[in-house]
Amino acid sequence: MLRSVILAAARSDRVERLVETAPVSRDVVRRYVAGAALDDALHTSRELVSSGLAVSLDYLGEDTTSPEQATTTKQAYLDLLGALSAEGLCPPVEVSIKLSALGQLFDEKLAYQHAREICQAATNAGTTVTVDMEDHTTTDSTLELLMQLRKDFPDTGAVLQAYLRRTEADCRELAGAGSRVRLCKGAYDEPESVAFQAKLDVDRSYVRCLNILMAGEGRPMVATHDPRMVAIAEDRAKWFDRSPDSFEFQMLYGIRPDEQRRLIADGYTMRVYLPYGVQWYGYLMRRLAERPANLAFFLRSLGSRG
Ligand SMILES: Cc1cc2nc3c(=O)[nH]c(=O)nc-3n(C[C@H](O)[C@H](O)[C@H](O)COP(=O)(O)OP(=O)(O)OC[C@H]3O[C@@H](n4cnc5c(N)ncnc54)[C@H](O)[C@@H]3O)c2cc1C
Repeated sequence: MLRSVILAAARSDRVERLVETAPVSRDVVRRYVAGAALDDALHTSRELVSSGLAVSLDYLGEDTTSPEQATTTKQAYLDLLGALSAEGLCPPVEVSIKLSALGQLFDEKLAYQHAREICQAATNAGTTVTVDMEDHTTTDSTLELLMQLRKDFPDTGAVLQAYLRRTEADCRELAGAGSRVRLCKGAYDEPESVAFQAKLDVDRSYVRCLNILMAGEGRPMVATHDPRMVAIAEDRAKWFDRSPDSFEFQMLYGIRPDEQRRLIADGYTMRVYLPYGVQWYGYLMRRLAERPANLAFFLRSLGSRG
């Protein structure tokens, strides 16, 4: 219930203006976001990499409505990949993109062209791209564009959301050799017709999907903070005789850092999803919706200065 309210607020321009102009403590945003500038992204990436983590950088922004905005987002990624390459950070740093930020909602071809340029720049830099998954109205389009991208850039990563009823079938489609698939639970407010609503049903779906990906020949990217899902993934890796370098764990920057370190110490690859940029509003609201306990922290800081 609270989750739906927060996600509804995330779509309200009025609430967005209110939150963005409130004296939000830097700490709230900084807890989940590297900072506003490219240099912030590079600085935090360097720190994470030096502590043994891999990184997927996300230039914040979504639901772009103009070609100019889409081009600006593409250029931000090209600049980012140039800088990562110059700094010797590729790999272990890759990028995550949102097709809606590249124009998908008004011109799919444009979004595809921009995504291609980003994939080419990533290849030149020696790293990869993962295509984030957004709300269910974009799933077909995103998977179609992903398949197009994979013709020339086969290591482009997909994201599948376990809360969608369709996802088990999508996992079967995408579990082939060389296929990088990030499995997450899903962060949007979806109707019952397409998505499981109860946490238990989402978790069960996650495990079924995990089984398919772990049994397959691709590279599962297990994106969850849920201790039970992490334990089941470790168990399945043993069951399916997977070496630790044939799959990876992923978590969001700022969430369960101790567990992130524990997984590295146990010999796993742990990739942190690290957003940066000024458009942090939608991202922050999804993180608050996932854990209403964070809301109290957030509301307290709305009233504080700095
Ligand atoms: C690397 C990565 C990439 C992602 N990409 C996408 C994407 O492309 N599309 C998409 O829809 N979703 C994406 N997500 C978000 C994902 O779908 C979930 O919304 C999010 O990960 C929370 O689900 P959970 O698996 O952690 O489990 P939950 O059931 O939400 O949480 C389980 C436990 O994890 C801890 N936890 C979870 N969230 C928080 C938090 N915000 N603060 C503190 N502790 C927390 C708590 O201990 C909680 O009890 C991504 C997540 C990750 C980690």
